[in-house]
Amino acid sequence: MHSKKAISNTAKSCLDRIGAINEKLNAIIYIDKDKVRRSAEEKPSGIPVTIKDNICVKDEPTTCASKILENFKPPYDATVIKKLKDAGFILMGKANMDEFAFGSSCETSCYGPTRNPWDTKRIPGGSSGGSACAVASGEVPMALGSDTGGSIRQPAALSGIVGMKPTYGRVSRYGLIAFASSLDQIGPLAGNVRDAAVLLNAISGYDELDSTSRDVACPDFTKSLENDVRKIKIGVPREYFPEKGLDGEVKGAILESKDILQDLGVELIDIGLPHTEYALSCYYIIAPAEASSNLARFDGDQYGLRKDAKNMIDMHLKTRTAGFGDEAKRRILLGTYSLSSGYYEAYYLKAMKVRTKIKNDFLEAFKKCDVILTPTTPAPAFKIGEKINDPLGMYLSDIFTIPANLAGIPGISIPCGFTKKGLPIGLQLLGKPFDEETLFRVAYAFEQNTEFHKRKPNI
Ligand code: GLN
Repeated sequence: MHSKKAISNTAKSCLDRIGAINEKLNAIIYIDKDKVRRSAEEKPSGIPVTIKDNICVKDEPTTCASKILENFKPPYDATVIKKLKDAGFILMGKANMDEFAFGSSCETSCYGPTRNPWDTKRIPGGSSGGSACAVASGEVPMALGSDTGGSIRQPAALSGIVGMKPTYGRVSRYGLIAFASSLDQIGPLAGNVRDAAVLLNAISGYDELDSTSRDVACPDFTKSLENDVRKIKIGVPREYFPEKGLDGEVKGAILESKDILQDLGVELIDIGLPHTEYALSCYYIIAPAEASSNLARFDGDQYGLRKDAKNMIDMHLKTRTAGFGDEAKRRILLGTYSLSSGYYEAYYLKAMKVRTKIKNDFLEAFKKCDVILTPTTPAPAFKIGEKINDPLGMYLSDIFTIPANLAGIPGISIPCGFTKKGLPIGLQLLGKPFDEETLFRVAYAFEQNTEFHKRKPNI
């Protein structure tokens, strides 16, 4: 009885913490407290988890932090939500995000920005910034996010927690509101590696409702949490340590992490990923192209916002003009342009060819090593407002996370240091397709032999 009581208090203590600090952070944008309390009574040992607002939860608002989906309540659960409910997790509302997951700072949300708990003048990263902040600030022990170009790993790094993007196809995308369907993947954010493994266990697996989900064996990821990394070969790609554009303190922390792993017995190898420099441009053709197509469905006819007008075309125009924010409009324009007749070959098709080269770089490298080690981000968290009018500067935040999405491989970000100002730094580990186990193993060993994950923001 004692343990039951203690655990049911977990959801309750989360509610208390949310009540105390969420107004300051704006991490959670919707929560039905009575429903949480009922669910905690029904499932006394349920683990609380908050959900990024682009994942459909039946009868709860799911808005992608966009005005165009205001008041939208899906009539069904995403597959990951059904799995969490069946496994006894307690859903703790919806987490803030960049509108439609376009962004790296969580500032483009129609609900206003989320703040970084380590320094509330700064961004928590994005687009899963609400999920990352909720975990980092102790509002919840874990959260679901989605990662199209870094949106789990980048906010995890900037908020000082663990975030994993699984292999494309590992987790069902059914009920994830699509951004770029060939890149999107749902994954866990958590305060430590074990919790991330527990959450991935709960959500992964083949799903006939998602034609891109893969029918591969799902191991118990908690079994790979061994504090032994001897003989694991870790590749360090020279392209991820450029002379310019990589913050000195970030670089220092990553190089130290490399040494820590070497002391634990891994074998380090220099590798090259020669097409890395094309990844960002390639992504910013493919992702907006797919986004422009996916966002065509938001026109006032079926979901969310509808602005009345005298005919259908005007209604679509007015609804989309009022409903989408600036970054969403920018992506729709870029994407529509690169898919249009006459430009398709020059942009989209060429980007798809470059994507294959980037993927082949990784497959080649994985003949020599088991894991690839890089910084997660080129710099620590920037200030709110600093890059909002500088889209290219913003896009550069994902320079080290985007290649894994283009290649479809898994990646994890774990805390590996702090700057002098006390801002978290993330270490990224990339793995072979469907080899999340080795990533968890290396991440766990690193975590067990360091103290970074134990430091908590003073909020
Ligand atoms: N920041 C990147 C973008 O704006 C990645 C976003 C994501 O992974 N959802 O597209």
